[in-house]
Amino acid sequence: MVITEQKPFNEIVSHLKKGEKIFIIGCGECSTTCKTGGEEEVLALKKKLQEEGFLITGFVVPKAPCIASHIKSAIAKNFSQIKDSDSYLILTCGLGAQSVIANDRLGLPAHIGCNTLFIGMVGLDAKNFFEVCSACGDCMLEDTLGICALTQCPKGILNGPCGGMAEGKCESDKDRECVWVAIYNRLKDKGRLESFFKIYPAKDFSKHKKPRHKVIG
Ligand code: SF4
Ligand code: SF4
Repeated sequence: MVITEQKPFNEIVSHLKKGEKIFIIGCGECSTTCKTGGEEEVLALKKKLQEEGFLITGFVVPKAPCIASHIKSAIAKNFSQIKDSDSYLILTCGLGAQSVIANDRLGLPAHIGCNTLFIGMVGLDAKNFFEVCSACGDCMLEDTLGICALTQCPKGILNGPCGGMAEGKCESDKDRECVWVAIYNRLKDKGRLESFFKIYPAKDFSKHKKPRHKVIG
């Protein structure tokens, strides 16, 4: 999922004009899990903004605003409130925000309420989010038994460990195990050490050329 943080309230307010009529859009998936743009956070922000004198015309929390059909249907269902609004305040990741902007036929100005941080794995407590994949487009998890060196190593080294590793720890953080030591240990446990001695070519960043686009079917 996409991990977000809500921008500080002062920053959000700094983009709004007194008397501006604002329609808030949240997200029922990632931003709900991150507690940055679910219904609870949308309502809390709405209350705070109203206390500051802003007029909130309405709000909606589409299931996944990054999906065109979801945001289009959310906008259609709330059209009467949206057409009386001056702007959107969007509490989603950058994908959701751009999807709102791309699918809004009124072309309302959009205020961005969240920072998008990374693609993350959600811990069991649903409070810890871990960056474990950088979406490189050329996955090597098969050979590293599920540990992404590109993401977990601060230098993104594909043939590690680097010369800075000491006693199994990473040179950038002495409390952290070097990811290549973790890969070595996992491969050894599974009798797959031959993969450790393989030389991995530099990543094919042509697969990472932005902006990326994929069509299915
Ligand atoms: S190698 Fe790492 S960054 Fe690339 S797709 Fe696999 S998990 Fe993601
Ligand atoms: S010590 Fe290991 S994890 Fe740290 S930068 Fe070097 S190779 Fe990467």
